[in-house]
Amino acid sequence: MRIIIIGAGITGLCAAYYLQKAGHEIIILDKSDLKDGCSYGNAGMITPSHIIPLASPGIVAKGIRWMFNSESPFYIKPRMDLDLLTWAWKFYRSANEENVRRSMKLILDYNMMSKGLYQQMAEEESFEFSFKEKGILMLYKTAKAEEEELEVAEQAKQFEMVTKRLTAAEVQAMEPNNRLDIRGGIHYPSDAHLSPDLLMSGLKKVLVERGAIIQHGVEVNNFISEKGKITGLSSNKGIYHADQYILAGGSWTPQLGKGLGVQLSLQGGKGYSFTIKDLKNNLNYPSILTEAKVAVTPMGNNLRFGGTMEIAGLDLSVNSKRVKGIVKSIPNYYPDYDFRQNLPQKVWSGLRPCTPDGLPYIGKAPKYDNVVVAAGHAMMGLSLGPATGKLVQELVDREKASLPMTLFDLSRFS
Ligand SMILES: Cc1cc2nc3c(=O)[nH]c(=O)nc-3n(C[C@H](O)[C@H](O)[C@H](O)COP(=O)(O)OP(=O)(O)OC[C@H]3O[C@@H](n4cnc5c(N)ncnc54)[C@H](O)[C@@H]3O)c2cc1C
Repeated sequence: MRIIIIGAGITGLCAAYYLQKAGHEIIILDKSDLKDGCSYGNAGMITPSHIIPLASPGIVAKGIRWMFNSESPFYIKPRMDLDLLTWAWKFYRSANEENVRRSMKLILDYNMMSKGLYQQMAEEESFEFSFKEKGILMLYKTAKAEEEELEVAEQAKQFEMVTKRLTAAEVQAMEPNNRLDIRGGIHYPSDAHLSPDLLMSGLKKVLVERGAIIQHGVEVNNFISEKGKITGLSSNKGIYHADQYILAGGSWTPQLGKGLGVQLSLQGGKGYSFTIKDLKNNLNYPSILTEAKVAVTPMGNNLRFGGTMEIAGLDLSVNSKRVKGIVKSIPNYYPDYDFRQNLPQKVWSGLRPCTPDGLPYIGKAPKYDNVVVAAGHAMMGLSLGPATGKLVQELVDREKASLPMTLFDLSRFS
């Protein structure tokens, strides 16, 4: 089949990768210049350890406390917007034990499937994307954060995940070239990390080499339908036709869905990152600074710091107060990395596509059998990219799905 994929982020490229392997002809359309969207500047962590969805007990109270601090890791910009208000209400309703209980095993299986596909990709493909299976470290400074992290580790152990509690000295021994100022940490050896920029350029290269067409600067704005099928789409560059259509538009997917009668509750969660280049003594392990909610990832000789979650619409502008919040927190854990006097010049921002319950939307558009939607992977879109791509291919080819799909239903909030 001739398949048009809207969106060349990790979700769109992975869908293209598996659909192309299954023998389909691929056209990918993207409105951006394909250089630095959300799938490029992220923290590069592959996180089977992260089995608890964002919508979980305690998050609402924490979020409200954080909202009064301009440098905190989480913020919702108040605005009179019906989509935001309904999303916030659904998020509030989802942040409970029941949501966590029913999602955890699925999130773990989804992550493990995806990591397995990354291993296969690293083995089979000629392009290098710095895929390293060293696990990640959850680092903490306070007794309270330690207690919270031990509780999370305990839950992970119930799913037979290996976790290792480490003293400050043990973490320091893993990072002999960089000073640490922490109380301790937890090592999740199941996790991995990679360089998103290398992954994205490698994927685009092999897709094109194998015959895919990737067009940038093409903004899709509507669909043409006939007898329960989509027959074409309109864009700023004209009309395109295909047999199948995949909507992988990240935080912009609700706008695309409207043209198909699909209502998706989804908000962009803005985050920032900056990358320090050419370090002589880089860190060995990626880590999450748990109190600050900052991710730190070595990528070759470079070191990337990322964090904050700001629900502020589709605005990508950089809020310097939030960036300062990230910068200030780093030397509390890594005293050698103090950028307060010399703020990073180049700060990247990206929008995580966040659903109210922390699970993505993956499925066929109810009214149109030849449209598949795949969006809403929030903080784990990179981790879940290959598994999502495979699930999309299975839907298109009407194969048995590798995972139970009910919780990904597009209409679960309608
Ligand atoms: C600071 C930060 C750190 C992160 N760290 C991690 C991490 O360590 N691990 C992890 O797993 N995830 C991480 N994430 C999340 C991850 O980056 C996202 O979940 C993922 O990139 C989403 O991918 P996507 O392909 O669904 O969306 P996107 O990457 O946003 O791609 C969607 C594409 O669709 C295009 N598009 C939209 N509408 C249209 C239209 N109408 N016409 C044409 N094109 C359109 C857009 O231009 C865009 O290129 C992080 C995110 C942030 C912000």
